[in-house]
Parts: sequence; structure tokens; C-alpha cells
Amino acid sequence: MRAAPRRGTGAVLAAAFTLATAASAVLALLPGGAAAAGAVQAALWVAVVAALVARAVRGPGGRRVWAAFAVGTGVLVLARLRLYTATGSAVVDPAALDRHGPLVLVTLAGYAAFYAGQVALLRDHFRRLRDPWLDGALGVVLLAAVCSALFLEPLQRATGTGAAASAAAVGRPSLDVLVAVLALTACALVGRRVDRRLALVAAALSVLTLADVTDLVRLAGAASPAGATHRLSVAVDVARLAAGALLVAASRQPAPVVARRRSLRGWPVLMAPLAVLPGSVALLLVDQHRELPTAAVVLAFAAVGGVTLKVVLVFAELLRLLDSHREAVTDELTGLANRRGLLQRLERTTGQGAGLLLVDLDRFKDVNDTFGHHRGDDLLRAVAARLTARLPDGALLARLGGDEFALLLPGAGAGRARRTADAFLTALTEPFELGGLTVHLGASIGVTASTGAAGGDALPGGDVELLRQADTAMYVAKRTGGGVAVYDEAVDRASRERLVLLEELRAGIAAGQLVAHYQPQLEVRTGRVVGVEALVRWQHPRRGLLLPAVFLDLAEERGLTGPLTEAVLRQAVAEAVRWHRAGRPLRIAVNLATGSLLDPGLAGFVQRVVAEAGLDPAALLLEITETTLMRDPERSRRTVAELLAVGAGVSIDDYGTGYSSLAYLRDLPAAELKLDRTFTARVAHDERSAAIVAGTADLAHSLGMRLLAEGVEDATTLHRLRELGVDETQGYHHARPMPAAELLAWLERHAPRSLPSVVLQG
Ligand code: C2E
Ligand code: CA
Ligand code: CA
Repeated sequence: MRAAPRRGTGAVLAAAFTLATAASAVLALLPGGAAAAGAVQAALWVAVVAALVARAVRGPGGRRVWAAFAVGTGVLVLARLRLYTATGSAVVDPAALDRHGPLVLVTLAGYAAFYAGQVALLRDHFRRLRDPWLDGALGVVLLAAVCSALFLEPLQRATGTGAAASAAAVGRPSLDVLVAVLALTACALVGRRVDRRLALVAAALSVLTLADVTDLVRLAGAASPAGATHRLSVAVDVARLAAGALLVAASRQPAPVVARRRSLRGWPVLMAPLAVLPGSVALLLVDQHRELPTAAVVLAFAAVGGVTLKVVLVFAELLRLLDSHREAVTDELTGLANRRGLLQRLERTTGQGAGLLLVDLDRFKDVNDTFGHHRGDDLLRAVAARLTARLPDGALLARLGGDEFALLLPGAGAGRARRTADAFLTALTEPFELGGLTVHLGASIGVTASTGAAGGDALPGGDVELLRQADTAMYVAKRTGGGVAVYDEAVDRASRERLVLLEELRAGIAAGQLVAHYQPQLEVRTGRVVGVEALVRWQHPRRGLLLPAVFLDLAEERGLTGPLTEAVLRQAVAEAVRWHRAGRPLRIAVNLATGSLLDPGLAGFVQRVVAEAGLDPAALLLEITETTLMRDPERSRRTVAELLAVGAGVSIDDYGTGYSSLAYLRDLPAAELKLDRTFTARVAHDERSAAIVAGTADLAHSLGMRLLAEGVEDATTLHRLRELGVDETQGYHHARPMPAAELLAWLERHAPRSLPSVVLQG
């Protein structure tokens, strides 16, 4: 909203400025109007400087830029005014220059401010400008050399002015050209549309250059008639005012929004020396044929010297960079490449195929812990030396950290990589002598190879994928006790699928996807249903109902048995309460995983669940496999005692497959022995199995336990089990495990409530 009136005032001011400039030109051309013209011009210049100062004060964004331009313009204007008051003439003549040489020198300082303003403008666009002042000096020296060669002698011959004033007269246009060239280059690099300030500054400085060079030509060309000289001088003044106006216009442009500052790289860094060197060499060559003024030759030499300095500086920086790069890719301890070095090399190798070995030392940690880090470091160096001695041509050995090394074999297939791994393993198995100690190491080496893009199976993950494969293989080697393992895609895929399944299981448990199915347990003598066993299932969102064989190992391996047991126990107990209320008081058996059994909070947890649901703890039976019990017999015994104290019963599951001793059984107050179904299946046909079952029944009864046979699949088996003294049976012959919703209906069909015994009792 405020932009409109401001643009309006801008236009009015611009019109006024143009009119006043034109008026001053007309006045200057009129005889006797020089003084008035000078006054008008002085006023206009003061306005220009004031506008620039106002912009610098107003800030923000470019405060430095416009302060610099204000200072530059101010210095030029003051020097000019001083010259004017001293000579009393708007037209500067060579004699005046001669008398006021030092004053003209001061004007040159104004250009330093212009240069600073431009550098500040460029900093808005570029992250790092390398030695801008040295580059500027180089440019000045060359331009001064050129101007001296062209104008110095004619100037002195024509006017007889002193050397200092002449030098100043030559210096000013040199500086003009320099700042103008810089501004035009900046425009080209940034783009004129991107930053309009740069474009207007470039225009202002170009106009100024044109004016100053014209003035120089005027001063040197003493032969031209006085009238022509005078008109030229007036035109030069008008042009200078136009330049001032353009600067003010530039200062009124908004600073562009630069998302990311670019960094100057490549040839622009060396732009100044690249431009200056041929220029100064050309001058020196010209000097061979036609003698140039001493000043020009000296300046040309100085320019060459400056270029040399610049090149030395850039070169020194390059060396520093190379050094820090080498440090960044080298392992300090061994002098081998480090992980970054390996990755860089891998990146360059992708597409042409390579073998990769990942070597992890076995038992290194022992050495480190036993003999200290110092010895550990010595050992790593010894390992590096030994492997380096066996390095194939073109291979890169790296230490990735700790006791992990990697070998990259560009162009090698799986076969060669494998042979190299075997050679490495042999080398590392030989003992190391460490300050009087003999140390035996070993290694686990993972091997993989890519055939590269040409082979048709370029790796999707590129170089990092190759490293991952070698890592996977190395872990396989480590798990199987060391040695060499070659990456196997099938194994890798399976283990990745397991990882996916694990994550799904974790989430599935939390989301309530685990459900219990129930399988009836019958009393052999009466055929009554006395209990059910809860068996977990996973209602997987994609794969459907999964049996425990698919996920139980995984849960056990990754410590998920706690939440799993909790889920099943809560459901089973809740169902049991429901059956009790429906007039079906059934014993409920829940399986305990190894992890749960080793959990010291188990008994307390069981007690809470049972109490919260309102179930008589005596109705709960916890099944523990014989193998689980024997894994930590002492701890199991304690847990069993705690469970009994809570009031729940314990059953020894899969009995006959583990290795429990009779002494252990004697001291374990379980309520039930659950005969494994491998025995059950054979009793009908195999007398020896039958004898074992009969003996087990006797044993159970004499220890005060009942014997339950699981896996009963037919009537013959059931009949035989009854003869052998088995108390209860469970199996497909009676029913398969079923969802809770089906159980009550099944009970109605198979065990009607109106049992004769119950009726008799009633
Ligand atoms: P288990 O405790 O020995 O359970 C009996 C397994 O035998 C069940 O397999 C059951 O479906 C199956 N089965 C029952 N009758 C017959 C039969 O007549 N013939 C044959 N061939 N099989 C029969 P399921 O449900 O697949 O469970 C397998 C194992 O998973 C269980 O063996 C148990 O060790 C474990 N498990 C099941 N649910 C849980 C649970 O909630 N927690 C824990 N920790 N483990 C569980
Ligand atoms: Ca069981
Ligand atoms: Ca079992």
C-alpha cells in the first residue's frame, strides 16, 4: 500500500533530477554561466550522496553496501568540489590537475569504497569469496599499466603536467574499468534478473567509466579546439550525474531473497589472475618492440608478481585441502584407509564389479581386556601389516573401526574373493608375537561380490548394499564359530523376512491379534471333559491364522514371550470364568514359555490376573515343558514353588522328550505329567512303548501326580491308554483346538450336562 506513493515520489524526484541536470548543462554552455552550473551540479551531487546515506541508515539488508557507495560517491564529490573552488572553473584542465595532484589521489580512495560495496553485494550471493582484495589490486595494477602505456606519454607531451597528476589522471579510469568489469561479471554470474541492484550498479559504473575515459581522452588530446573540449567536458559531467542517479536507483531496489548462497568453485576462483596474466605479458611483449613508459613496465611486472602471489596462495590452499582430505580417509592407527576411504573407493568401483571382504577378528576383545589398549593397538598394527603383505594388486585394505577390516577387490568375482578370504584366514590364524607374548587370534570373514552393471544384476543399493551383504555374511561366519562365509541371498532374505515378522508380531501383540484356541482334555475313566488347554494363534492381518510353530521361536528369541504369555493368560482366565458362570467349571491349562518361567515376577503376575478376573486359582494349570524345566533346574523349582503358593497347579509338558531325572521329579510338586505324543502314537502297536507308558503311569501315581496323554488320534489308542493306566487324554480323536465361541456348543454336543452321575448325586 505504501509502495504506490513512494513510487510516485520516486518518479517526481527522478524527473526533477533530470530537469536540474539538463539545466546545469545548458547553463554551463552559456557564456558566464559556469559558476551557476557548478552550483546546481554541486547541489545535485549532495542530493545523490544524501539519498545513499539515507538508504544506508534506513537498513537493514545492504546497510554495508550502501554505506560503502555513499562514502565512495562522497569522496569523489568532495574532491571535485575542492578542485572546483580551488580553480574556480567547472572544467578541469591539465594545469589544475598538476597543481592539485594529491587531491586527485584522494579521489582514488573513493574507489576502494566502491569496490567494498560491490564485494558486500556479492556476499549476498556467494558463500565464500577468495581474496577479493588481492584480485582487485591485480586488476588495478594491470589497468593502470595499460592506461599508462596508452595515455601517460601523450598526456605529459601535450600538457607538460607533472608525473603525480598524470598518474592520478590515469589511475582513475583504471579503477573505473575495474569496478565496472567486476559489476558486469557479477551480473553475468548471478543473473541480472535475480538481483536488480547488481544490474543498476553495473549500469552506473559503466556510465561512470565511459565518462572518465572520455575525460582522459579530452585531457590527452590537447590538439582539439577549446570549444570542442568544453562541450565534451559538459557532457562528461552530465554522464557522471546520470551515474549517480543510477546508483540511487539501485539503492532503492529490494534485496533479493537468496535461498542458498552458492559457492564459487572452479575457474571463477582464478578469474582475476587468468585475465591479468595475458594482459600484463602482452604489455611486456609490446615493450620489446616499442618502448613503453617506465611506469607501465613497472606496473606490468607488478601485475605478473601479483598473479604469482595469487597462484601461490591458491596452491597452498589446495595442498592444505589435499592434506585434510588424506587425513579424512586414513585410519590413524594403522595407516590403512578408513571407512570413508573405503566408501569413496566403493563409489568409484560400482558398475564394474568388485569383491568385498569384511574381516572381524575373533578373541581380539580378550587381548584388549587382558593386556590393555596399548597391546591391543600393537596387535591391530601387526594384523594390518600381515594382511598388507598378502594384498593382491589393486586391492584396498581398510580398517572400519575396532577390530573390523575390509578388503575391496575391484573386478574380482566371488571365486577370487573367496580364495583371498581363505588366504587371509590362514594368515590370521598363525600366532602373533607381541612383546614376548604369543597371541592366537582367528577371524570371521564375510565375502560378497557384485558383477557390476554389465553383469545384469547391478545392486540397487549400490556400494552401501555391497558392504551390507559382506556384513551379513560376516555375522553368519561369526555365529557359526568363525571362518569364512559367503553371502547367500536366500539366507539373507529369510532373515529379513523374520525381521519383518518380528516387527509385525510386536505390533500384533499390542493390537490384540493373538487369540487363544482351546482343546478339551477328557477323563479316561468317565469320558467327562475336565479341562481345556489354551493354545495360542496369531490372527495375522495378511497371512490369516498362524500356528505357534511360525512365530513362537521368534518370540522366544527376541524376548517377546512376556507379552505373549500375558495375552494368552488373560484371555484364557476370562474364558474360564465365563464357563464357570455357564455351569461348566473347567480346568484351564496355559503354556509357559522359557522366558516367562525365568521371569521372577511371574507368580505375582499370575496371582493378579486370576484375582482380577475372579477365578479360583486351583482351576488354573500352568504347563511347563520338561526341557524348559531342566534349562535352569534350580530357578524352575523356585518358580514352581511360587506358583503352587499362589494356588495354581503345574503340569510337566512334553514329558519323555527331555532329560529330567527321577530325583528332580521327586522334589518337584507338580500335579500332572503330560506324556509327549510321540509315545502316545506308538502304544497301540509297539509293546515297548506301551511298557514305558505303563511304567510312567505308575511313577506318576506314586509321586502323587496324574498322567495325561496328548496326541490321541484314534479309538484304539484311547482304549490301550485306558488299559495302561493313563488318567486323562487330549487329542484330535476328541477335538481339535477351537475358538472360545465354539467350545460351549461342542461341550453341549459331546458332554451333555445331564450326566447320569450328576443326576444320581442330585
Ligand atoms: P503343546 O503344548 O505340546 O500343545 C499341543 C500341540 O499339539 C498343539 O499344537 C495341538 O494343536 C497339537 N495337537 C493336539 N492334539 C493333537 C493330535 O491328536 N495330533 C497331533 N498331531 N497334534 C495334536 P499347536 O497348537 O500348534 O501348538 C504347538 C506348541 O506351541 C505347543 O505344544 C506349545 O508348546 C506351544 N504353544 C501353544 N500355545 C502356546 C502359548 O500360549 N504359550 C506358549 N508359551 N507356548 C504355546
Ligand atoms: Ca502344552
Ligand atoms: Ca505337549
